[in-house]
Amino acid sequence: MSGEEAFAVRRRLSILGSTGSIGRQSLEVMAALGLSVGALTAHRNAALLEEQVRRFRPELAVLADESAARDLAVRLADTPTRVAAGRSGLLEAATLEGVDTVLTAVVGIAGAEPTLAAIRAGKDIALANKETLVCAGALVTAAAREAGVELLPVDSEHSAIFQCLQGCADRGEVERILLTASGGPFYGKDWQALSLVTKEQALQHPNWSMGAKITVDSATMMNKGFEVIEAMWLYDLPLERIDVVIHRESVIHSLVEFRDGAVLAQLGVPDMRLPIQYALTWPRRLPCPTPRLDLLRCPNLTFLPPDGENFPCLDLARQAARRGGVVPAALNGANEAAVALFLEGRIGFCDIPRLCQRAVAAAPEIPAPSLEDVLSADAAARADARSGI
Ligand code: NDP
Ligand code: MG
Repeated sequence: MSGEEAFAVRRRLSILGSTGSIGRQSLEVMAALGLSVGALTAHRNAALLEEQVRRFRPELAVLADESAARDLAVRLADTPTRVAAGRSGLLEAATLEGVDTVLTAVVGIAGAEPTLAAIRAGKDIALANKETLVCAGALVTAAAREAGVELLPVDSEHSAIFQCLQGCADRGEVERILLTASGGPFYGKDWQALSLVTKEQALQHPNWSMGAKITVDSATMMNKGFEVIEAMWLYDLPLERIDVVIHRESVIHSLVEFRDGAVLAQLGVPDMRLPIQYALTWPRRLPCPTPRLDLLRCPNLTFLPPDGENFPCLDLARQAARRGGVVPAALNGANEAAVALFLEGRIGFCDIPRLCQRAVAAAPEIPAPSLEDVLSADAAARADARSGI
């Protein structure tokens, strides 16, 4: 692609969470598109961030962890890139002047404040960090409307829906959205079998290679529950119009049913580089290096209902979304804490839904919560989950 074409799409991007699974793939896509980088951020991986800075030469590099940021500053002393640390550094990266789009690939609610700051600074958002919409969907969508910025989905299901909705001017024409779910590594197991699964097994996703947290969320089906909430906010649809179907092969990335009965779907090999690129090139399409779908070689496509009895997280997320306020933030906070405890080997797989259920039951009713309300519900749910083991 010529430089001129790249300019027509997006000029300069920052990536929050550039060292993660989505962050690394986004840099690859940006390099192929010839886009320039304003700021890169991570939590504490100074070695990889140094490598990325040397290759992509951003103006600013930020580590949330203060001591890792000091290490990074020493490593980058011979480069023109400025290094910053902590919350203020992340906010600076999110709002950097001259950047038109911020790709949010931080994991967890840590992305909420920087995402809101980026929106208020007038940046379009390429959104991978779904926890931010789960916890603060009302605040984020209202801020985006007010600032007149785009929320461009990176999540593969939401990108599929976005692609199917191109040309649909009236959302009233949409009957329902159908999110596909692979079902993760444990679909078909019962509660007894699930109580014995190990962290190593949970980290073996059948179709996608992703960060550890979302891989566990896929195994519990919490990821799909969060995606229902994410779709609700992104597409302004009531929960009843968002369904989930298990589709083990991950070839159909999601579908939209219109009121005349037509169903549109987006298909492709499971590879995040395409949805990442579409968020960056929309409304255009450009060549992408992902492998092509060969229908003659692809497995038979199957569709099954979700198993709500053994995987209660999907319904729990719906329940939280129905109650609204800070309940989804409490659910997310408990889930983040529970997944971390599971990955540390301190609780079993079935303790994750158990701790999440407890958080939803205990969550206060706060209509129209502020970011502070959301963050304190998150903190309370985390503390409760940790004390509940
Ligand atoms: P990873 O765990 O691979 O990466 C997370 C990134 O966020 C890393 O750069 C990490 O830095 C940084 N980070 C972690 N904690 C903090 C913090 N407290 N403050 C600042 N930065 C932090 O996650 P993924 O790339 O898998 O996922 C990122 C987001 O994208 C998640 O919300 C996920 O749900 C969503 N998503 C991911 C998909 C995937 O294929 N991976 C698909 C669809 C959505 P460090 O490396 O230093 O720890
Ligand atoms: Mg997804």
